[in-house]
Amino acid sequence: VVRTRFAPSPTGYLHLGGARTALYSWAYARHFGGTFVLRIEDTDVERSTPEAVQAIIEGMQWLGLAHDEGPFYQMQRMERYREVLAQMLDAGSAYHCYSSKEEVDAMRERFSAAGDKPRYDGTWRPEPGKTLPPVPADREPVVRFKNPLDGDVTWNDVVKGPITIANKELDDLVIARPGGVPTYNFCVAVDDWDMQITHVLRGDDHVNNTPRQINILRAIGAPLPEYGHLPMILDHEGKKLSKRTSAVSVMDYPAKGILPEAMLNYLARLGWSHGDDEIFSMAQFCAWFNTDHLTSSAAQFDLEKLAWLNNHYIKQADNTRLAALARPLMEAQGARFDGAPDLAAALALMKDRTNTVNELADAAMLFYRTPQPDAALMTQHLTDAVKPALAQFAERCATVEWTREALAAMIKEVLAAHTIKMPVLAMPLRLLLTGQLQTPAIDAVLVLLGRELVLSRLKAAV
Ligand code: GLU
Repeated sequence: VVRTRFAPSPTGYLHLGGARTALYSWAYARHFGGTFVLRIEDTDVERSTPEAVQAIIEGMQWLGLAHDEGPFYQMQRMERYREVLAQMLDAGSAYHCYSSKEEVDAMRERFSAAGDKPRYDGTWRPEPGKTLPPVPADREPVVRFKNPLDGDVTWNDVVKGPITIANKELDDLVIARPGGVPTYNFCVAVDDWDMQITHVLRGDDHVNNTPRQINILRAIGAPLPEYGHLPMILDHEGKKLSKRTSAVSVMDYPAKGILPEAMLNYLARLGWSHGDDEIFSMAQFCAWFNTDHLTSSAAQFDLEKLAWLNNHYIKQADNTRLAALARPLMEAQGARFDGAPDLAAALALMKDRTNTVNELADAAMLFYRTPQPDAALMTQHLTDAVKPALAQFAERCATVEWTREALAAMIKEVLAAHTIKMPVLAMPLRLLLTGQLQTPAIDAVLVLLGRELVLSRLKAAV
């Protein structure tokens, strides 16, 4: 069985890198009919907030990445961590260390000065035949992990390939602070064990933690998951994606008019590929996704590609759904919906060339405000030559069948009768009906506006 997890620290929002990690972990579980666990790593009590937990859950909901188990909160698992700490102390794979912070700093400095890696010197590390110093009074110990002194830690990273770290590079890690508060890597190892995680996909900022977690897992007799460390996401300039230059929170994107399916499709390709396929559904992605085609080089965030995908998904989207998204944006711009054309129908007419829901809402505004054509444009287009044609057009509008075909045929007849070309009639019509020269095809505009509105807007002019 496959069990994956997404384990965010709730210290901010759900950022794009986190969302991609969540997506891959989710899809991997889906692909193998496994289980996707959500775990909130909230042991950094200073920086963790309930709002951030909420923001992460909201982001995942918007994307539709449902977890099968959880959310589990590390802060609610303290008893369990204490239990494992006690077992490790009993088994001798961890020990109490009474060195003060000053003493440890001095040790590190001594190693540094000798040109060695700064580390703890093992004063309190029990060894057969070794006598430990007397326990100082009034000092709470930390618990250190008894890291193996020799040998290597090796794992075959599913993204980066084989990675080997020598044990002598690793310190005897503090796994509980004074008072028994467990530390980060220890909690992660215990959680991955208890939650029976089989595959860990996460950002490559965690590569250095992996050998430590592997050693702890080995010491507690837990099976090792597979690890895959995803490369970071860079901005358009090739720098680390940051709040300064880009919208890094997933929840910035709904307000930009991005549809979740476009974001998902975009994130799916940001670090993984399937031949030349660029556009695919999540069902398709889950069917394809495994760790074979993860990219090990950094991915570059490309807003234009996201917009291109969004255009595709807007074209596919149900118009009623688009209307529900666009309506509040249009209301904020003073759109009037009373007696105006059906919004879903209007959006259907406009959506081919828009990249975001916001652009779509802006474009559709032309049907939801009183046309106020520019006077100079009116003089230019509403010439004496076109007036009789316009009058005849208005007259025939009263009785013609109100379909695109019938209207198009009627327009043709009016043009022929007055020997004028299409734009000569269509331009003033557009101005009168919408206040703009740029609109979708005139017959489509007429059908959308409806006979009544068309007649009332023409009446004033002819
Ligand atoms: N809590 C870590 C983070 O938000 C993830 C740890 C993990 O996936 O192992 O970066």
